[in-house]
Amino acid sequence: MLPNDLLILHFRIDTAKAKALNKLKISTVADLLYHLPARYEDINEVHSIASIQKGQEAVIYGVVSNLKTRKAWKSKKPIAEGWVEDGSAKMKVIWFHQPYLAKMLKDGTYVKMSGLVSGSQDKLYLANPEFERLDALPIDRHDSIFKENSDNNETIYPVYRESKGLTSKWIYHAIRKCFAKGVLKDIEDPIPLPTLKRYNLPSLTDAFHFIHTPRKLSDAEVARKRFAFEEIFYIQLRRARDRAISNAASTYTIKINQKELKTFIDRFPFKLTNAQNEAIKTISKDLCGKNAMSRLLEGDVGSGKTAVAATATYMIVSSMAEHSNHSESKKTGKIKMPDKFGNLQTAYMAPTEILAKQHFESFIEYFKHLPISIGLITAGGCYKYPSNIDKTKPTKISRNQLLRWVKDGSIPILIGTHALIYKKISFARLAGVIIDEQHRFGTSQRMSLVRKNELLPHLLSMSATPIPRTLALTLYGDLDLTLLDQMPKGRKPVITKVIGPGQHKEMYEIVRSELDSGRQAYVICPRIEEPDPDIEQTIYMKNVTSEAERLQKTEFSKYKLDILHGKMTPGEKEKIMKNFSEHKIDVLVATSVVEVGVNIPNATVIIIEGAERFGLAQLHQLRGRVLRGEHQAYCFAVTESKSSRTKDRLKALTTAKNGFELAEFDLQFRGSGDLYGQKQSGISDLGMEAMRNLRLVEAAREEARKLVDEDIEFSGYPAIRNKLAKMEKTLHLE
Ligand code: ADP
Ligand code: MG
Repeated sequence: MLPNDLLILHFRIDTAKAKALNKLKISTVADLLYHLPARYEDINEVHSIASIQKGQEAVIYGVVSNLKTRKAWKSKKPIAEGWVEDGSAKMKVIWFHQPYLAKMLKDGTYVKMSGLVSGSQDKLYLANPEFERLDALPIDRHDSIFKENSDNNETIYPVYRESKGLTSKWIYHAIRKCFAKGVLKDIEDPIPLPTLKRYNLPSLTDAFHFIHTPRKLSDAEVARKRFAFEEIFYIQLRRARDRAISNAASTYTIKINQKELKTFIDRFPFKLTNAQNEAIKTISKDLCGKNAMSRLLEGDVGSGKTAVAATATYMIVSSMAEHSNHSESKKTGKIKMPDKFGNLQTAYMAPTEILAKQHFESFIEYFKHLPISIGLITAGGCYKYPSNIDKTKPTKISRNQLLRWVKDGSIPILIGTHALIYKKISFARLAGVIIDEQHRFGTSQRMSLVRKNELLPHLLSMSATPIPRTLALTLYGDLDLTLLDQMPKGRKPVITKVIGPGQHKEMYEIVRSELDSGRQAYVICPRIEEPDPDIEQTIYMKNVTSEAERLQKTEFSKYKLDILHGKMTPGEKEKIMKNFSEHKIDVLVATSVVEVGVNIPNATVIIIEGAERFGLAQLHQLRGRVLRGEHQAYCFAVTESKSSRTKDRLKALTTAKNGFELAEFDLQFRGSGDLYGQKQSGISDLGMEAMRNLRLVEAAREEARKLVDEDIEFSGYPAIRNKLAKMEKTLHLE
């Protein structure tokens, strides 16, 4: 048996199993070995029926039979009773106050039961046990590991993630069979030996033994740590390789005229913060260097990333290409390009149409004194600034015309949504790519924007998503990091209140008084979790609609309400946002679609219903919606939960200094919703556990960089090469 053998060569696999294996993405023996246990059960805590004693709190695994309801002998009250059998013996179970249970458990159901052993020693029964239905018994009672006085010391056994038709037990036995057939002697450890030694990690063979057939939990822990390291190591290898490739590529060297740059910056209607100035300085250094810039700009909502992006755009588009490796296409459009101003292009990608439009409008303000055109491409249409007729306004143009002007370089700045710019557009000299709010956009994505033999554009990726440092190091390991950790002056912090059951009255009073003084409000409905995204959106939409109706009838009867949710078309959403920004709507009831960067300065209140269902970092981002104006803003985190743990967690919103602190909190409290970015990043639960361990993440990064320095093709490391190739094919990591 070899690790790369297909499972069907060695196991009888029926259709149901084949389907299940497919679903779990297991096709080879190695895939099966990498299907790691979700948790462990300790056999010492499991009792065999033959061995239990009266008075014990027993945990047993078995099959139920003969459940029925009858009247209790003395009291005549109905009770449920039946039998449970585990291979060692059979015993009675009785539920005294829950007769309906007899109907809930069918004969032959596998269960885990725990309860008090009662009765007399020859007539024992389990009283009022709690039970859990199982797809199968995890392990046969006849297994050697269950035998009394077994010479095998194992007391814990693994429980695997199952799928319909595939039980944890089957997986367990299949893996043992692979071990018995000697598969581990042919398995190659992808992690170089010196790395294992440096960090005291077990070899792959040992780790597989430890994790699938541990003798003690600490062995399993050691193995988990190794597999977590391995997962992060692969990601870091890809990041390190991407970065090395990007550093090797030629790029446009930007020339900056400091005096004119100052003029550009002085035109902003505000004074830049120190953080913004620092970021601009760093970016200008990057642009003037000989490597393409690869930078991530992280800053809370409202920290002023757009102004930094506009300045970076200015530096690029005002520069002339020193060398161009393809012949200049003859200009075909009507726009006359000035000779002196630059000839390079920048693409600015936004996550939504609404935001793309907002950026377009801001950019027109910032660039209108310059001889330069700006394009906007959205699903709803294409625009160009300035219009030929009215030089102060943009004009609608056809998509084909816009694409032509982008291709011949007459439109140096193109703004649009990620999706639109990403795939289909060709540029004359794309020297800068700016990405707003995308979870991951790194070097390999940037490369797919340019054709062969073109120069690599500079990359500025911007994010307001507060993520823990370890996750940033992993997801953005190929980028340099700049933090905008300072808010523009004069912004009052948002007054944040956690609203528990029965405290709504006061909240609605505050909101009404804000509305009366001319402000606007958001109401965010609770997040829904549904495996099917379509169903999720439908439920979400219904919640939004019914909450809006309720509020219109009760708390906000005097005001104009409207709704916004993910089931609307981009056109509908845009219309609503337009109405809201023109104050034709007082209260906008919405799903968390307003999350990313929409800027409505007059909206000063946000009510977040079901706040406990959001991560803190996400709540923080939602709160950022009302941070834009000069008026005092309010955020109400509403929860129906009475748990003090929930309230304490939400209180962190009122005490934490910034989004990053909240992201670290989320990492500690995980379980209450996903950590932001996990789904997009494709990191497993095991990998996310590793995110709590800064030392491990730094070690994986360090080792990955060393390896890439030494051998960027991984030619001496076939196991790594194969694994990375496979990852690129199957995983949509980015
Ligand atoms: P974000 O970082 O969330 O993208 P924006 O760039 O949209 O933030 O800026 C938020 C608001 O703050 C905008 O209205 C912008 O004009 C304003 N702004 C940006 N920088 C400053 C500054 N230094 N001083 C005052 N206001 C600023
Ligand atoms: Mg923004």
